[in-house]
Amino acid sequence: MLQQVNGHGSGSAAHSGESLREDLQELLGGEVPPQQLNDLTKVNPVTLETVLRCLQARYMADTFYTNAGCTLVAMNPFKPVPQLYSPELMREYHAASQPQTLKPHIFTVGEQTYRNVKSLIEPVNQSVVVSGESGAGKTWTSRCLMKFYAVVAASPTSWESHKVAERIEQRILNSNPVMEAFGNACTLRNSNSSRFGKFIQLQLNGAQQMTGAAVQTYLLEKTRVACQAPSERNFHIFYQIYKGAHAEERVRWHLPEGAAFSWLPHPERTLEGSVGTSALLLGLPEDHLLETLQIRTIRAGRGQQVFQKPCSQAECNTRRDCLAKLVYARLFDWLVSVINSSICAAPDSWTTFIGLLDVYGFESFPSNSLEQLCINYANEKLQQHFVAHYLRAQQEEYAVEGLEWSFVSYQDNQPCLDLIEGSPVSICSLINEECRLNRPSSAAQLQTRIESALTGHPRLGRDRLSPEPSFIVLHYAGPVRYRTVGLVEKNKDPVPPELTRLLQQSQDPLLKVLFPADPEDKSQEEPSGQNRAPVLTVVSKFKASLEQLLQVLHGTTPHYIRCIKPNSQAQAQIFHREEVLSQLEACGLVETIHISAAGFPIRVSHRNFMERYQLLRRLRPAITPSPHGPCPDGGRSECPPCTEPATLQGLLQEILHALPAPLHCGRTKV
Ligand code: ADP
Ligand code: MG
Repeated sequence: MLQQVNGHGSGSAAHSGESLREDLQELLGGEVPPQQLNDLTKVNPVTLETVLRCLQARYMADTFYTNAGCTLVAMNPFKPVPQLYSPELMREYHAASQPQTLKPHIFTVGEQTYRNVKSLIEPVNQSVVVSGESGAGKTWTSRCLMKFYAVVAASPTSWESHKVAERIEQRILNSNPVMEAFGNACTLRNSNSSRFGKFIQLQLNGAQQMTGAAVQTYLLEKTRVACQAPSERNFHIFYQIYKGAHAEERVRWHLPEGAAFSWLPHPERTLEGSVGTSALLLGLPEDHLLETLQIRTIRAGRGQQVFQKPCSQAECNTRRDCLAKLVYARLFDWLVSVINSSICAAPDSWTTFIGLLDVYGFESFPSNSLEQLCINYANEKLQQHFVAHYLRAQQEEYAVEGLEWSFVSYQDNQPCLDLIEGSPVSICSLINEECRLNRPSSAAQLQTRIESALTGHPRLGRDRLSPEPSFIVLHYAGPVRYRTVGLVEKNKDPVPPELTRLLQQSQDPLLKVLFPADPEDKSQEEPSGQNRAPVLTVVSKFKASLEQLLQVLHGTTPHYIRCIKPNSQAQAQIFHREEVLSQLEACGLVETIHISAAGFPIRVSHRNFMERYQLLRRLRPAITPSPHGPCPDGGRSECPPCTEPATLQGLLQEILHALPAPLHCGRTKV
């Protein structure tokens, strides 16, 4: 039976539930209750191969979710499975006395977080970290979880509050398509790829009703506005407007049917290729726009004289692209702020939150630049959070508690983070330093400095066959080659002050909001040399926002969902063993299973334990002789001298009634 699912490459033979059971029974070495098949910690022995076989068998039997200890593995079905996400099923998980005994599902995670928030004596904020590579199903998973919370967290008591709850939840859900229209694009890996990271905080009041939400976004890939990789597309919104505009809008927005646009791939056009239309739409005089794009104004020399310098064609194009990116990035931030102001709860109307993190997955292309460096850096940070929280902290805690434990080794990605962000010297510090020095041929200088300062680092590789200057970072998820050319420029992300000033003069009502006039702005021209203000680089800003995110996550009880892409063709019923294997290796799933299988499933603080289970103390008189002698009525009623129920059964019933919910499996120490 195992041979059928064992072949390399894609296996398209559908597996019945029965064959799945047989496969798993063989792996487990005997008869097992069905619910245990759902948990990879029960596979014996736990190896990459057995885990892979189990996931493959389940996937081919249309079973997409599997528990792996503290992590839920979510395989992308690549086909509609509506019955798996119905409101009825959501309610079933919500109503279950022990949802963890139902089939593994993202709703189990949803319900667990929801109960943890409400059942604790001191509520603890929760977070769900959804990870996986691009196209693995992170955004889908986050969306379904939001729908789940919208259903279960809306239990209003009055008609008025019902209306409010509905409005808030609906608004939160409705914000998704808007953000995806502006922030998602069709890439080679995913036709609806999120080009920004998102952390959404669902805010709950004391009655566990959702009263609002707050969205924080990270690193929108704004370069896509002006430049897309071959066979990739611009953000969805451009196509949606183009397809969806009606006749009057087409005239107003200058969108004639059948028009070709440089940035919606693609015949190349010259700059003067749409400047009139652009000026009209931007609410600017045409000659003013053209002049700003073509002439650079700089201050130089001791007397800070002002010079005007005509730009080359390439420089003009760079300024044009910069203008577009600037407008788009501000528009996106503005949208997020509008969404936030419409969904965010008043500070005193919520007490706890459940955070959903959906960030771009690990990326590796034939040619990678600053965008991939930041994305992969974020993934390293999140992996470190997982390693630190689960793999390391848990084992260290066992040692401190003096519990018998044989240490399970795991891949710690700290050395890789040291290479990227460490001090005093790291890739980020060197890129930032080159930005500060602002010298010509910065790419060559950067390459030399990386080679001289970091060669020999265990996580730095070098591709000697590469036709261009580059370096390789050995990430936890695999090696990635980064081109050095362009890194420094992208990191500076320079915006000529004339461009911002130009936009501040726009007569367009929206642009007036996006670029309010700045009365403090005295810098009329681009300063040169020593007079430049220190640049806050892309990497520095990204690092700061990541630190902030990690701080928020550290204050929560985290839950992990690992999305796995069964094949890169986005096809249902195809399980590509090598591709899945590398994803399992990358996220250290086997180590996680080992630790979960051998570890203690529940941890609770002494105080919480005592507050919850102090009734157990009353068991003592029933099971040990009472100091008042034997119970006078043979244990059928209360024993007056010690006022305890006299039978063990009576006590247990009392305890069962008194306990509101199962113990919380949290971060606090025993
Ligand atoms: P990611 O955010 O990880 O890049 P997405 O969540 O956008 O990936 O998923 C990529 C595509 O896979 C989706 O557009 C959808 O077609 C499909 N998909 C993902 N998860 C599911 C699911 N649970 N059921 C059906 N299709 C899914
Ligand atoms: Mg996504």
